[in-house]
This record gives sequence, structure tokens and C-alpha cells, in this order.
Amino acid sequence: MIVTRFAPSPTGRLHLGHVYSALEVWNFTQDTGGRFLLRIEDIDQARCRPEFEAGICEDLKWLGIEWETPVRRQSEHMDDYREALGRLDRMDLTYTCFCTRKEIAAEIAACPSAPQGPVGPIYPGTCKALSADQQNHKIESGQAFSIRLDFEAAQKRLLEQNRWPLHWEEETTGAVEARPQDHGDVVLARKDTPSSYHLAVTLDDALQGVSHVIRGQDLADSTHIHRLLQALLELETPLYRHHRLITDGKGRRLAKRDQSLTIAGLREAGQTRQDVLRRLAEI
Ligand code: GLU
Repeated sequence: MIVTRFAPSPTGRLHLGHVYSALEVWNFTQDTGGRFLLRIEDIDQARCRPEFEAGICEDLKWLGIEWETPVRRQSEHMDDYREALGRLDRMDLTYTCFCTRKEIAAEIAACPSAPQGPVGPIYPGTCKALSADQQNHKIESGQAFSIRLDFEAAQKRLLEQNRWPLHWEEETTGAVEARPQDHGDVVLARKDTPSSYHLAVTLDDALQGVSHVIRGQDLADSTHIHRLLQALLELETPLYRHHRLITDGKGRRLAKRDQSLTIAGLREAGQTRQDVLRRLAEI
């Protein structure tokens, strides 16, 4: 059974770029008789707002998209993420990191040969060397922290199990080798949030039985990390389609700042559903 999902973060209204993505997912389910799930990715409670979630649902309905209920809202499933984090911890694949962004930047600046990943510098592993006592002391003194994946330990585990290198199937291009090493020791959780985007999305796709992940090309880098988490947590790997991104007239990716291109804005300006669909087809 084909199961796929549209997974917006309710941090603003949907713009044409989101709609392109939602329609890729919707059209795929219509063509294949698959199931369309809507998942609200609202882990970042400081940025997510219920009125944006309501607005997203209103816009999708206006576009004629129908989803199954109940909707999975990530903020209601923190225990699932905590449990997965606990499993990684029991495998000795995580460590506590107390570095601030500023400290990490300073450490990297002091070491010109520090490796760079596709989305920025790789965490230099400073806190990996802390003893249990040092860690406890910092936690007890109230310092903020994050939980990082120990990439080296994770790779070692998979090598020992003859499960390295990892691949995923990209719909149009075939097998892609995952390169989580380019991302290093990624953050899996923070003191006040038991999950990062990476952990939650990987787990949710598996728990919801998603067979096809259809999302923008901007998230293709993250798939390298998600593939590693799937292997460590023994989760199924869906098939992936990373579709092209919609850009504005100047070739820039659409962002939430482009208010005039939100569906709500276009609708208020008198545009019909057909107008929006035609416009997307022309971009
Ligand atoms: N919540 C993410 C976003 O709005 C999408 C996550 C995904 O499709 O994997 O950008």
C-alpha cells in the first residue's frame, strides 16, 4: 500500500512552494490510489502557532486536498521520540553537549582544517571527551545542553554488523549512497525538547508506515542523516522523491517572508484555485 505525507511546520502560512510540494504528494496519491497523510511538525513550540496550523488546513481544503484523520501532531508524541533517544543512548551512540553556537564557531575558527559539511561546519566533538562527573556537574549547575549522535560510534556499530555503507532509493535516479559522515555528530534533542527535526521525522515516517517520502530538494541533505537513524533504530527505509524547488522571479527560493505569494494572500487578491494551479504549472 502506498502511503505518503505532507509535513508542514506551522510557523507561517503556506506559500506557492509549499503548495507545489503538497500537490506533488496529492497527485501521486491520486494517481496510485495511495493514502495521503498530513503531519504537523510543531516540535519547535517557540515558532509554531495553532493559528498557522488552522490556516494550513484551510489552504489545503481550498486547494481540494483531503487528508486522513487523525492528523499526527508531533508535539503530542514526545514520548515516542524520548523512547527512541533512550534506545540510541543505551547503544552508547549519544553524548551530552554543552557548547553554545558561539563556542562552536570559535573552536572551528581556531582550527582552519576543521571539516565542512554541505550545510556548514561539522561539530568538532569538544564535549565527547567530558567525563561523567564533568557532565553531571554541568547539568546540576543548570547549563543548557543538547544530545548529539556519536557518528563514529554509530558507524563502527554498523561496520561490525556488515551494514555499512548505507543507501536509499531515489525515485528518479536510483540508489544513492548515504553520507552521514558529512554531517558529523548531529543534534538529536535539546534540554527542553526531547527531539530534533531529524529524529522526529525519521521516527514518524516509520511509525506512520510512510512508503514514499516526497519533499523538496532542500531537504535532500537531511536524508543522509535520516538513513543513518533508520539503520540504527532498525526502521524501514521509504522510497524518496526530492522534487525541484519553486523560486521567485529572481531565482531565489520562496520563503515565509514572501507574503504576497502565500495562498491566503493570493486568495485575498481574488485569485481562484484554477489561477493558482495554472500559475504553478507555468513556473
Ligand atoms: N517540516 C518540514 C518543513 O516544513 C518538512 C519535513 C519533511 O517533509 O520531511 O520544511
